[in-house]
Amino acid sequence: MKKILISVVAVLTMVAGVLWFVNNRSTTQKDSASTNQQLRVVTTNSILEDMVHNVGGDRIELYSIVKRGTDPHEYEPRPTDVAATSEADVVFHNGLNLETGGNGWFKKLVQTSHKAFNKDVFAASDGVNPMYLTTNTKEQDPHAWLDLANGIQYVKTITKVLKQKDAKNANYYQMNADQYVAKLQKLHQTAQSQFLDIPERQRLLVTSEGAFKYFSKAYHVTPAYIWEINTEAQGTPEQMQTVLAKIRASDVKHLFVESSVSPKSMNKVAKETGLSIHAKIFTDSLAAKGTKGDTYYSMMKWNLDKIHDGLAE
Ligand SMILES: [Zn+2]
Repeated sequence: MKKILISVVAVLTMVAGVLWFVNNRSTTQKDSASTNQQLRVVTTNSILEDMVHNVGGDRIELYSIVKRGTDPHEYEPRPTDVAATSEADVVFHNGLNLETGGNGWFKKLVQTSHKAFNKDVFAASDGVNPMYLTTNTKEQDPHAWLDLANGIQYVKTITKVLKQKDAKNANYYQMNADQYVAKLQKLHQTAQSQFLDIPERQRLLVTSEGAFKYFSKAYHVTPAYIWEINTEAQGTPEQMQTVLAKIRASDVKHLFVESSVSPKSMNKVAKETGLSIHAKIFTDSLAAKGTKGDTYYSMMKWNLDKIHDGLAE
């Protein structure tokens, strides 16, 4: 009985997913003078969703898979995600080893949805200089967007793909992209000298996941973390000892915790060191819509300001 119920729910959710696109499309057709379909774009996470939204504006239909506040490393696609991906004209993923948890959930989703890499599925990180993990030097570190210069490269790649897939709106996409890139560029320039007023021994950025390699290199702080990437074991006694030693060898005053991980391990570090957690910061996901950090720009601005204040205090 339970099994039957579950499959009924699954079928209903699948139908809901298909209806989502069909419904969106017919609304757009009614609203717009042209009967041309809008480009249907799917992104794997909220950061990419916001970047694509800034370029595509109201000329595209946008669906994002991993919900806000949720970890995109590990994910179990739902029937609505499969339906949206199957119907999509373009799918953006981060690449660089981000969506590889759970035995490659995204690769499986692409196969199930009958899509093909570099034909209708694109890595937004294309053109970025990758950094590698310390524990496994063959594996790429996915968190490139935490350096705004890389975020700008993502926007350029997204713009290139949208223009190719929807040539009639190419000028509109380019105009939006130019404005958006200028805004990001300004924040990047400020950020490059933002931390230089803090003594170097105090400039240790302690987080749960080692998501801040690209950020640290761009903005001159030293990263320290409990575990290196969310797909590995988290908060083991060995990892705890390593991060505690790094903290004790520094003059750091505050710790940080990411919005999309459990604070349990960082609370332990706080207890052990007597340091307090200064703020929640954003790494793999944006904040809920309508709250601070709900766009890529505001998430970066929030991170830069909170990290600065916490390290300087
Ligand atoms: Zn991460």
